Amino acid sequence: MSNKKAALITGGSRGIGRAISLRLAQDGYHVIINYRSNEKEAAATQKMITDDGFSSELCPFDITDRKAVSEAIEAILEKHTLHTLVLCAGIRHDELLIFMSEEQWDSVIDTNLTSFYAVVKPVVRYMIPNRAGRIIIISSTSGQFGLPGQVGYSAAKAGLIGATKALARECAKKNVLVNAIAPGFITTDMTGDIKEKELVKTVPMNRFGKPEEVASVVSFLASDDAGYITGQVIGVNGGVYM
Ligand code: NAP
Repeated sequence: MSNKKAALITGGSRGIGRAISLRLAQDGYHVIINYRSNEKEAAATQKMITDDGFSSELCPFDITDRKAVSEAIEAILEKHTLHTLVLCAGIRHDELLIFMSEEQWDSVIDTNLTSFYAVVKPVVRYMIPNRAGRIIIISSTSGQFGLPGQVGYSAAKAGLIGATKALARECAKKNVLVNAIAPGFITTDMTGDIKEKELVKTVPMNRFGKPEEVASVVSFLASDDAGYITGQVIGVNGGVYM
């Protein structure tokens, strides 16, 4: 069992998750980088952390596969002192509801929302007796605002906000703090196909955000400085939703 504080980041290999992995490694955590299948990007993230002289490990599993999640988290908790969980893995399948297939609906809900149960439950069970821990859920402006073409995604991300608040109440007395971050438009692979020139006009700050601007809020929420914050949803959105 390692005494160094560890952080597990689902979807920690690319985009916002990569920035979170790098930032928490700089903050002194041993970073456990989860991803689904893109080993090349995950290895690149791990190399960046190693090159900076910090510690991490790769931990591939599909967050929609309950058995795989359960085995992976059990192994992590046997080996590490887990202080922070960041639920960041997510997918988008934009389609008007009238054209959305069952498969698209199911994959968006399973990945973005149902995975909360499998990933967060064993971690909370571990954190409660320790009377310490931080759980940070990456939701989305889409879950606060509702965006056309994102009925399933908005539903899943709004569901995460409800789950965050309810779990925060369940765990507050045990000093396990649960918060959500709702990013707006952030430049990553996920937003690579969207019309930035058009959408940026809807953002008061007139630009998309950077993954590092989400990671710095994660860093704060995981820190001792955020010791009296729970059940909150922090927007990192350039003012697009207030
Ligand atoms: P991204 O660049 O597409 O990266 C997605 C990450 O999630 C990858 O590491 C991917 O692993 C992982 N992942 C996807 N499905 C998975 C599964 N079933 N099991 C395990 N890992 C899985 O996305 P991003 O833009 O950084 O978004 C990160 C989070 O922020 C998501 O929850 C997203 O909904 C949310 N968000 C993003 C934006 C934005 O504008 N980018 C805005 C609001 C909220 P592989 O590489 O192996 O596929």
